[in-house]
Amino acid sequence: MQGEKKKKIVKTIKVDVDKCNGCRACEVICSAFHANPKYSSNNPSRSRIRVIREPVRDIYVPVYAGEHAPAECMGRDKYVIDGKEYDECSFCRASCSSRDIFKEPDSGLPLKCDMCESDPPLEKPMCVQWCLNDALIYEEREEEVEEEEPLEEMEIGLESLAEKYGLQNLKEAITRLSKKE
Ligand code: SF4
Ligand code: SF4
Repeated sequence: MQGEKKKKIVKTIKVDVDKCNGCRACEVICSAFHANPKYSSNNPSRSRIRVIREPVRDIYVPVYAGEHAPAECMGRDKYVIDGKEYDECSFCRASCSSRDIFKEPDSGLPLKCDMCESDPPLEKPMCVQWCLNDALIYEEREEEVEEEEPLEEMEIGLESLAEKYGLQNLKEAITRLSKKE
């Protein structure tokens, strides 16, 4: 839904790939920060940043979880950088049905980087704080943007469940659950 233009703080994390040594501290702290309760567990497969690693070929590229893709796209991307060939879709940020990355391992629900939104707000996202090699650089800037209604995390999850099981089945399951309360 489109709305009025308004000023907004745009948060970015610049990734300096040459400085990443594949230590995966960013994955560990992201999963711990988003555990429920906070810091009660850490499991990189729950992280919203994943380091594409191939130590033998000296490849480490941090990739952030982006939007959920409702269906596989028709094409595949393959990159060759400095003579090193990366696997198909390696740098795609989407949580999509063609692979397991950026999905909550128990529920299969999509994961997306939320820039560590919290109350009170953090000075810098946790992955940036924990990257001792300065491969992740946090920046903020003010921009005039079209106001959009953001999808809440719960809505993204419901949308994904509706795609997986069908909207009617989801509605029936919610009805059954509400009768149990
Ligand atoms: S913490 Fe920094 S150096 Fe370590 S894997 Fe993540 S981005 Fe790379
Ligand atoms: S900014 Fe926060 S939510 Fe996003 S990947 Fe880093 S630690 Fe995870």
